[in-house]
Amino acid sequence: MRALTVSPGTKDSLRLAEDFPEPAESEGGLLVEAVAVGVCGTDREIIAGDYGEAPPGGDRLVIGHESLGRVVQDPTGRLKFGDLVAGIVRHPDPVPCANCAEGQWDMCRNGQYTEHGIKALDGFARDRWRIEPGHAVKLDRSLGLLGVLLEPTSVVAKAWELIDRFIERDPWQPENVLITGAGPIGLLAALLGKQRDLDVHVLDLATDGPKPQLTHDLGATYHSKPVHELGFAPDLVLECTGAPPVVFGVMDAVGPCGVVCLTGVSTGGHQIPVDAGALNRALVLENNVVFGSVNANARHWKAGAEALAAANRKWLNRLITRRVPVENYREAYGPPQADDIKVVVEFLTA
Ligand code: BGC
Repeated sequence: MRALTVSPGTKDSLRLAEDFPEPAESEGGLLVEAVAVGVCGTDREIIAGDYGEAPPGGDRLVIGHESLGRVVQDPTGRLKFGDLVAGIVRHPDPVPCANCAEGQWDMCRNGQYTEHGIKALDGFARDRWRIEPGHAVKLDRSLGLLGVLLEPTSVVAKAWELIDRFIERDPWQPENVLITGAGPIGLLAALLGKQRDLDVHVLDLATDGPKPQLTHDLGATYHSKPVHELGFAPDLVLECTGAPPVVFGVMDAVGPCGVVCLTGVSTGGHQIPVDAGALNRALVLENNVVFGSVNANARHWKAGAEALAAANRKWLNRLITRRVPVENYREAYGPPQADDIKVVVEFLTA
C-alpha cells in the first residue's frame, strides 16, 4: 500500500512509498482506510528535519497526524463499516505519569508520550491504518471530507475548555475574544468563540485572500493592524500565530481579569525588545492569566466533533483551500501558496 514517509532529522526526505507494509495488528484492533490527511506547520517542520521521531527500531516515520478515514473493521462492534473517524494523535506515556494515568495524555508530565505521525508512532498518511478502537473518534457522516478538520478543532476545543475554567474564578462574564492569526487554528478558534455567543475579533496581517471574508461570514470582526492599534482591551485572547511581537503584544493588550491562551508554537532564535518589568506589572495588577495549551484528550476530540457537526458546512468547506491527490503530495507539502488555509492530501473520495 501507499505511505508518505520521512527519515526524521534528514531534510527533505519525504517520499511516497508504493510497497509499504499493511498496518500490523499490534497497532490496534480497528482497521481504517484513509480518506485524507491535513497538512500543518508541524508536518513542514518534520519534513525540514527539525522535528519528529521514527518508531523504535526503524528510521522512517509515516507522517500525517490530521486524519480522516472510513472504518473497515471494528472488533468491538462499536463502529460500523464505512463510519467516518479520525485517529487521536497522542498516546499516554508508558510509566504512566499522573495525568496520562487518568487519560489526560495532552498534559503528559514526563515527555514520554507518543504521537501518530510526529513522535515514535507511524501516522495516518497511508492507505490503511490501525488504532485502538477507543482512540478513534466518530464523525457526523454529513461532514464528509470536512471531518479532516477534527484534529485542529480538538486542539482549539481544549484551549476553550481551559479558558472556561479560568473564567469561572470571578463573577464577571467575558463578552469578547481576540483571536490572533487567521490560519486554520485561528479560524476554528473563532468558530468555537461564536458558538459560545462571544463578540469575536480576528487579527491577521492579510488584507486580501479568503481570511477577511471568512471572518466576516462567521459574524466576527476582522482587523489587519498591529495589536497595539486594536483600540480596545480584549477580555479573552487566543493567540494562534506564535509570532513573538504578537505574543507579547496580546499579553500587554488583554483587559483586567482577562485570559490569554497561547497556542502558536514559535521557532526559537528571535530576540525582540520587551519591557519585562512593565509587562509583569500589568499582568499582576490586572489579575491576568497567561497559559500555553497543546494537543487534546478524548474529551476535547469529542467536543471538537460536536462543534464541527454544529457548524455551517459551506463555511467549513471554504477553510479547505486545496485538495491534492496523494500522488501529487509534493504540491501539498511544498511552500504554502498565497491563499492557503488548510491543504489536504486525498487518498480516497469521502
Ligand atoms: C499537533 C499536536 C501535537 C503538537 C506537538 C501539533 O501540530 O496538532 O497534536 O501535540 O503538534 O507535537
